[in-house]
Amino acid sequence: MQQTKRILVTGGAGFLGSFLCERLLQEKHEVICVDNFFTGRRSNVAHLLEDKSFEIVRHDITFPLYVEVDEIYNLACPASPVHYQYDPVQTTKTSVHGAINMLGLAKRVGAKILQASTSEVYGDPEIHPQREGYWGRVNPIGPRSCYDEGKRCAETLFFDYWRQHRLRIKVARIFNTYGPRMRPDDGRVISNFIVQALENKPITVYGNGEQTRSFCYVDDLIDGLVRLMGTNDEVTGPINLGNPVEFTMLELAKLVIELTGSRSKIKYLPLPTDDPRQRQPDIGLAKRELGWEPKVPLRGGLARTIAFFDDLLSSDRSQQVA
Ligand code: NAD
Ligand code: UDP
Ligand code: UDP
Repeated sequence: MQQTKRILVTGGAGFLGSFLCERLLQEKHEVICVDNFFTGRRSNVAHLLEDKSFEIVRHDITFPLYVEVDEIYNLACPASPVHYQYDPVQTTKTSVHGAINMLGLAKRVGAKILQASTSEVYGDPEIHPQREGYWGRVNPIGPRSCYDEGKRCAETLFFDYWRQHRLRIKVARIFNTYGPRMRPDDGRVISNFIVQALENKPITVYGNGEQTRSFCYVDDLIDGLVRLMGTNDEVTGPINLGNPVEFTMLELAKLVIELTGSRSKIKYLPLPTDDPRQRQPDIGLAKRELGWEPKVPLRGGLARTIAFFDDLLSSDRSQQVA
């Protein structure tokens, strides 16, 4: 029997955070979900509210937070380019001031702390697939920099608190993850393509669609995060978590059209500035340190995600009719 812990999840009402809260409650922990509801929604965690071990707090982590916890998962930060570029100064503050506050909290209460970092720390990479030892190629002054550099600085802070204050840290570099509970207006590629396909609207491929990403299903990713938190103190990361099977955006568009049986056609739009051309995780370290690798292939994960959006869009339609 494992010990019940009190666990803080920042960004707990978001896409990944809500699945993480659910998983930690299943393991009989007490969970405090902190969120400012910028991109997260109360409805993502509404089903957890009847659990007495679950608490939700509206709070912006750029401000100090005083709670007593054993572990902290720091997930607060908008992850979609559309949302993180909406208020870029706040995005950097969330990563940097947010990390300082959560690290200060971890230091005061002696908690173990995990940072949700990102494959974006590699920028538009020259090394393929990306290994943790690669320092990355990030534009410090472009429209994506608020996210990329904010997350890079957060990693720096984590390692300085580890070196300077001997904090117990874990840094996960998460690659593109998808699944149910993404917002229809999230703006990331999987939700965009699925919503467009279900509505028989044009599928918006940016650029020529030859750029690649590697997509991990949410359940696999959450399992990786929990395993990382459970490792002994010597394991700090950074450690890549993602599915190494790589697709072009054109392949993804065709797969979504096939799986939805859609009549949509592909529409090409300009490639956003600094859009990385290729991305694939080397997960050798995660396999060795965590005994982890993703289990859900893209087709299976897409089918579950399509079913979620299908339900959501049909209930929206029936509400409009009513
Ligand atoms: P999301 O936008 O659904 O969730 C982020 C959550 O953080 C939201 O609930 C939002 O309201 C909250 N939040 C934002 N700023 C906050 C603040 N200042 N204070 C408190 N709460 C705040 O995104 P997600 O996909 O669930 O991503 C979760 C984390 O994982 C993020 O840190 C993201 O950078 C990281 N990540 C995600 C992916 C992915 O593919 N999903 C990939 C790499 C990294
Ligand atoms: N902090 C917090 N909760 C705590 C302890 C600290 O939010 O329980 C914040 C506080 O804003 C502080 C920051 O974390 O400024 C960094 O804390 P640290 O102890 O590292 O540094 P200092 O207090 O000297 O700034
Ligand atoms: N993309 C696309 N059409 C869309 C949304 C995104 O072709 O409607 C492309 C985008 O240019 C990028 C890839 O899909 O090359 C992944 O984009 P996303 O925003 O999901 O994540 P990120 O760029 O942060 O990996």
